Amino acid sequence: MIRKQIQIFGCVQGVGFRPFIFRAAQKFNLKGYVRNTRYGAEIMAEGEEENLQSFLHYIQKELPPGGIILELRVREHPLAFYPSFQIKKSLDTQPDYTVLPPDSAMCPECERELFSEENRRFMYPFTNCTACGARFSIILKHPYDRPNTSMKEFPLCEDCLKEYQNPASRRFHAQTISCPNCGPVFKLYDNRGRPILTEDAVKAAALLIKEGKILAIKGMGGFHLACSALDENIVEKLRQRKKRERKPFAIMVPDVEWLKRICIISRKEEEIIRGRISPILLLKKKYHTPIASNVAPDNRYFGVMLPYSGVHKLLLKEAGIPLIMTSGNFSEEPIIYREEEAFSRLHQVVDFYLIHNREIVTPVDDSIVTTVKGQPVVLRRARGYVPVPFVLKSSSPIKIFATGADLKSTFCMLRENYAFLSQHLGDLQNLPSIERYRKVYQHFHKLLNFTPDLVVHDLHPDYISTKIASEFECPKIALQHHKAHIAAVAAEFGIEEKVIGFSFDGTGYGEDGTIWGGEIFTGEPHKLKRAGTLKPFLLLSSEGAVKEPWRVAFSLLMEILGKDLYKIHWAKNFSDEKLSFLENLFVKKINSPLCSSMGRLFDAVSSLLNLKHHNSFEAEAAMALENIAVEKEDQYQFEIYEKDGLLIMDWRKVILSVVEDLKKKKDPSLISTKFHNAVAHAVAEAAKRIRTETGLNKVILSGGVFQNKILTEKTLSLLEENDFQPFFPSQIPPNDGGISLGQAYIAYLNVREEKE
Ligand code: ZN
Ligand code: ZN
Ligand code: FE
Repeated sequence: MIRKQIQIFGCVQGVGFRPFIFRAAQKFNLKGYVRNTRYGAEIMAEGEEENLQSFLHYIQKELPPGGIILELRVREHPLAFYPSFQIKKSLDTQPDYTVLPPDSAMCPECERELFSEENRRFMYPFTNCTACGARFSIILKHPYDRPNTSMKEFPLCEDCLKEYQNPASRRFHAQTISCPNCGPVFKLYDNRGRPILTEDAVKAAALLIKEGKILAIKGMGGFHLACSALDENIVEKLRQRKKRERKPFAIMVPDVEWLKRICIISRKEEEIIRGRISPILLLKKKYHTPIASNVAPDNRYFGVMLPYSGVHKLLLKEAGIPLIMTSGNFSEEPIIYREEEAFSRLHQVVDFYLIHNREIVTPVDDSIVTTVKGQPVVLRRARGYVPVPFVLKSSSPIKIFATGADLKSTFCMLRENYAFLSQHLGDLQNLPSIERYRKVYQHFHKLLNFTPDLVVHDLHPDYISTKIASEFECPKIALQHHKAHIAAVAAEFGIEEKVIGFSFDGTGYGEDGTIWGGEIFTGEPHKLKRAGTLKPFLLLSSEGAVKEPWRVAFSLLMEILGKDLYKIHWAKNFSDEKLSFLENLFVKKINSPLCSSMGRLFDAVSSLLNLKHHNSFEAEAAMALENIAVEKEDQYQFEIYEKDGLLIMDWRKVILSVVEDLKKKKDPSLISTKFHNAVAHAVAEAAKRIRTETGLNKVILSGGVFQNKILTEKTLSLLEENDFQPFFPSQIPPNDGGISLGQAYIAYLNVREEKE
């Protein structure tokens, strides 16, 4: 016989964990107790060693839905000869923070109740239980108890209380339950904010959508704009009113059958989209679908999701067609989540509002996920993920705050061995986004009882996130953007040893003051050294070129062809005036810094193929280029050589080949494919050269360019074929949404090393 103390860290309270442990202890014939603690639960278990092993395995595998175990610490103790197994009272110590649960999609049991006529929650949108429902978005403060959520306004009725107190009920100690007698309700309003009397507001809303109206719908973490996804005219109307030219809209479909009608979906993808997180999943479009062509123009994928909360399930059932379900905001601004703001700002966009009377405490966007080689990769980390922290190998002696980057902004709070990444906060380019950032900071500060000892931020002197960092009085460190991209992936996988890192993105401030974005590093995650780069070129008109891929193409052509560039057909797209303006910038090097950005190289090729000369949203041109690529072996070739201690990936031959193939009127799809393959082969080739010199074998890929699935899958395959051990993020975005975690991780490793 042995006795073990099992400390469980994570979200295990309010999910039926203790009764579950009680039953498991009976099953494996163990004595002892279970109780809630500051950071989760503690189990003392005594019995045969074999049984204890099986018990440990069982509780992790069969954990009740809604439970999250972050860490499990097991220690052996001398025998105590317990007479039985008991559920003990909680330890009364007031924790200074707890790990709070994320929002979850409605579970299958609740869905069954929602649609069964005899159930008292029939058609009740707020149906939930211990396993599902809103959590993080409605929690005011820790610990997670009903009075600390916005459900505090809705006292439990007698029937609900009975369920809450019944250990046999799915709703035993479920903090957020309610029913039509005691819970929040939906109401319909016109676009001047006047209530409309209806028997069933949700049903009425569905009918309005079917009639072609655009609605603002208050959901779990904010407002959506919803309308039919089948009618081109309605989609166009939404685009005009929302001022969103071509950026794809997310679609919510009634059921999996609909998904299969419009997309190609694997079993693994089906599992992801039906799961508790229920994200927007990027799926390859099918040809000839009933979805309006302007929903996701020039894009390989649809961003689709299934109805995840009660209101969505009722709405989609009633409407019976796929709906646009896009964030209620104006381009690049944060999602609107309060009624007053919705009424004052969205009235020109929508015809009606469907609104409930439960407060959203903190806004949380829908998460966006794609798959790479069958594995999920989160591109926007919000609902369902946040605030579950990343677990580090050992405890940090200080509290670290990382302010992230300016695009796809997130921040990170690191304390002890947890790194808490905020939800996606949008682009810090406008006042509402900056205000949102501060507000969410305050919320996290309160929830986690967090005041930093050290602040880390991007090296870019003009980033808003850098200015935010400067407002703190504690010590600060500036970190290079592309190193943080690599470190973020290292953090996810707990890598502390030396790696080779490829960091490809749009732009970031380099250590030499030029614009980086096609960088190779080697070293430990906190001591990365630049080992190579894409051959730099002039970024004509600086940041102005980000919106105008053709300017990048011009710069590259000018460098390799000189004035001969005017002879190629591509140049006929632009007026003489525009061309000579750029030539002047090029020759005199005015407002044209050096830039080694891989993202810009994709832009340039997109323009050369006449796909996109302008970006109406981030990465539009690159996406159009990916859209026409196919899986084939043909490739162009980068020249790779060493210069001044750096491995240079020289693009000149690649661009020259593109121009030649264009002259030969080769299929643009083939040209795009050859270009994608060239970049993948350049990575593998550079990695091989570095391995020969250093013996390093672990390769990290990170940065927004690797959101390109064709490129990333090809690159990963090549690395595997060459016996590398590649790492690609899954739980953090490869884009700038992961930067704050990388910044925090670098600081953490440094601090730890100093203390050792
Ligand atoms: Zn449920
Ligand atoms: Zn009730
Ligand atoms: Fe970046």
